Amino acid sequence: MSTSAPRSAPSADRLPGEGSVIDRLVEANRAYAAGFVDTGRDARPVQRVAVVACMDARIDLHAALGLRLGDCHTVRNAGGVVTDDTIRSLTISQRALGTRSVILIHHTGCGLQSITEEFRHELEMEVGQRPAWAVEAFRDVDQDVRQSMQRVRTSPFLPHTDDVRGFVFDVTTGLLREIDPLT
Ligand SMILES: [Zn+2]
Repeated sequence: MSTSAPRSAPSADRLPGEGSVIDRLVEANRAYAAGFVDTGRDARPVQRVAVVACMDARIDLHAALGLRLGDCHTVRNAGGVVTDDTIRSLTISQRALGTRSVILIHHTGCGLQSITEEFRHELEMEVGQRPAWAVEAFRDVDQDVRQSMQRVRTSPFLPHTDDVRGFVFDVTTGLLREIDPLT
């Protein structure tokens, strides 16, 4: 897999007579803000839950889980893996902002299943520097959910680890499948 990426500002997504994708996002924000209603709530999530999920574009977490604005913390990254930075966010979520439960969501057809740790080596060969982070690639999504649950449950920084559950979201049906942490 190539690790090449465009080094300059891309213009390929710009159609004639249109702004860039970010211009369109900023425009959409004006319409959003016009109808925005301040709930007046503070920063503590109403449902006292943190969701850790893959960044995959096909997962609408709030819709998929029946969550409303203000209900949860959302921590997303490539794979929905539990890295040191995920633990950092969960620690702040629990200790400073009152969450008690953690739901982990991986999914079918994840991009991290199509690459390997060789990705790091290729990156190093290309740019002359090895990234400090692990790719966290995986083959078996169920096993990766189990490992993620284990990382949360064994973190010394998290005071609330009794309600930690992991799932695989099927991007073709929208259904969650729960992963047994012990099998
Ligand atoms: Zn993914």
